[in-house]
Amino acid sequence: LVRLRARLSRSQNALGKGLLTLLAREHLDEDTWEEIEDTLLTADVGVQPTQELVERLRERVKVLGTRTPEELRALLREELLTLLVPDFDRTVHTESPLDTPGIVMVVGVNGTGKTTTTGKLARVLVADGKHVLLGAADTFRAAAADQLQTWGERVGARTVRGPEGGDPASIAFDAVKEGIQEGADVVLIDTAGRLHTKTGLMDELGKVKRVVEKHAPLDEVLLVLDATTGQNGLVQARVFAEVVNITGIVLTKLDGTAKGGIVIAVQRELGVPVKLIGLGEGADDLAPFEPEAFVDALIG
Ligand code: GDP
Repeated sequence: LVRLRARLSRSQNALGKGLLTLLAREHLDEDTWEEIEDTLLTADVGVQPTQELVERLRERVKVLGTRTPEELRALLREELLTLLVPDFDRTVHTESPLDTPGIVMVVGVNGTGKTTTTGKLARVLVADGKHVLLGAADTFRAAAADQLQTWGERVGARTVRGPEGGDPASIAFDAVKEGIQEGADVVLIDTAGRLHTKTGLMDELGKVKRVVEKHAPLDEVLLVLDATTGQNGLVQARVFAEVVNITGIVLTKLDGTAKGGIVIAVQRELGVPVKLIGLGEGADDLAPFEPEAFVDALIG
């Protein structure tokens, strides 16, 4: 928690503090409620969740009458937690129900932190004693396979790669096949995320998915979103969700943004849990998303 609090930017931490200060005003007039609403919208909580939260807070504050700082804190904590859906299953599923490796596909727009996240996740799994294989199916970005391989060498996982500009599906196929042959525990597949045409993306990811599933069930499809892109991230999320069945969200770059409310917005948008968060560029900067710790870091 200490680390999380330190990593969430000061301005993000200000979200909770700002709300508490506003709620503590003696007269909660319409202007104040508007300021509360603006604070939430600026933090990317999203329109609908913001309205719901403000409505709930209005009701509860009314019931409360006089408000001690502790009461306000507890109330805000509870309501933010409700919006974060504390009972979502946030396990990253890396174990196959069959006798095949667990298969995790990592998708998202280029630049969001897909390759970095794949590397960090590999590190966690290797540290857990797992035999991990990486599939470099992002053949769109020239350096992506090199970058993934560098991560692999760093953390102790072999990378399966193809020729530059090669067919992503055939690399994913090879990775899964080799994973089965060498009895790997988990195969992580890094994919390309070009969004310029939805049909192109759909064709490519759909093909990767189909080819993989010929050999082994897909256990997890992680969508990587850059928290600093705000509402644009939501648009991306929507497109990907139409193309593949997303099972979990990774929110990266939460260390550098005041827009932590995007966690609430994106879960609401997709109905899928945020499972992991990226808090920096380093190998250890991937953390499980824990709603309680997150809210505590927000409201200090
Ligand atoms: P990809 O194109 O989606 O595979 O993106 P990359 O993995 O290459 O990441 C793009 C940039 O974002 C790189 O410079 C990463 O180091 C950086 N990055 C990735 N995750 C995080 C994070 O959680 N925090 C910060 N601050 N930077 C990150």
